[in-house]
Amino acid sequence: MKTAALTLNFLALTVALAAYGQVDTLIYGGTVLVTPGEKPLQAQTLLIEKGQIVRIDSGYKSALELELNDVDVIDLKDSYLLPGLIDMHVHLTFERDPNANPHRWLTQEDADQALTALPYLARTLNAGFTTVRDLGGSYKVIFPLKRAVNAHTIKGPRIFAAGDFISASGGHGDLHGYRHDVTELFTGGLGICNGADDCRRAVREVIKSGADVIKITATGGVLSNTAAGVKQQLTDAELRAIVETAHRLGRKVTAHAHGTDGINAAIRAGVDSIEHGSYLNKESITLFKKHGTYLVPTLLAGATVTEEVLTNPAMPPAIVDKVKQVAPLMESAFRSALKHRINIAFGTDSGVSKHGDNSKEFALMVRYGMTPQQAIVSATRSAAQLLGQQNRIGDLEPGKYADIIAVKGDPEQNIQLLSKVHFVMKEGVVYKHEKSHSD
Ligand SMILES: [Zn+2]
Repeated sequence: MKTAALTLNFLALTVALAAYGQVDTLIYGGTVLVTPGEKPLQAQTLLIEKGQIVRIDSGYKSALELELNDVDVIDLKDSYLLPGLIDMHVHLTFERDPNANPHRWLTQEDADQALTALPYLARTLNAGFTTVRDLGGSYKVIFPLKRAVNAHTIKGPRIFAAGDFISASGGHGDLHGYRHDVTELFTGGLGICNGADDCRRAVREVIKSGADVIKITATGGVLSNTAAGVKQQLTDAELRAIVETAHRLGRKVTAHAHGTDGINAAIRAGVDSIEHGSYLNKESITLFKKHGTYLVPTLLAGATVTEEVLTNPAMPPAIVDKVKQVAPLMESAFRSALKHRINIAFGTDSGVSKHGDNSKEFALMVRYGMTPQQAIVSATRSAAQLLGQQNRIGDLEPGKYADIIAVKGDPEQNIQLLSKVHFVMKEGVVYKHEKSHSD
């Protein structure tokens, strides 16, 4: 108990010091991608006040020229600046580790989970991801973490979180792999529901617990330890009830969906996005376009579990079978979505992969046919749009949050550069600035 409190106090102190250094800031940017998807501008001066970009001028303007008194100046004339990256699918409260005790959830308190997550949050922010959407983690852990970030008590990205999944009993979001009375005791949480009315109740309870967005498991999933396949698990009536209730309460809905029937039923019911979308077909494409639904492809999750099948002999057979079925389909689903110009927003499912490796998704997107420019748009403007936060984040126009990252060289030529972010500012506070230019 005491050790935990001390650790938190120490973190609080270091982060608070950075935060309270907040005076107005001038940034000189060599190349600035103000609006992803458009041409970057050369030699710009950005003025940051109270965490926001308030003006951008061509050329390098001095404080005197801009009639400013007390400003910090950050010189990034040798760098390429772009908006902070946005990951639409992470799980900050855990990280898969084939070597860890698989039953540790039985011994850990909620506070253990939260403390374990602190480095995950820091790594994510250090990697240049200034905003994330957390799609599933106990409400007892993820919302306190989000509040601590907002209070500048701990270091991490801005978090929009789902909290507990909405799932059918025995569905992908429920607990599996133990005797029945154990799973009864530790069942999937607030969001387990059966029947339309019960699912309305679950949505209301999850929102009451603090959810910014509703995450549903419309179909089976790969990493639940049950040989139940990846077909539709919530009924059409349940899906409609969930979406209607969430939208009335001002929350978007995103559906974990692999199987074709579940993807199509979820889109018809009006969800705002589909996670994974592995078995999408022609009809799905038509539905995506008709409803303006987003796809969050999570290619990195597919690549990560495919590798784990080869290296982890302890992976349960029910999971191995589903990995072999589903992972190879993710590339063709992505290519098809791209070809038909479906809305695509960047998401990694980090937690399945290591936190802080989020930018590996870019390389996969480009390998499977996106231009680097399209990949950057998916992690900035498109993600902001899907979050409903396009007035605050996603580009560097005046009025937006000062979420700014920098790399050396042009990421629109070489997307791999996004794994070498050397400067990270979130809401006007500098969290990373490596001045040695060895990379
Ligand atoms: Zn996930």
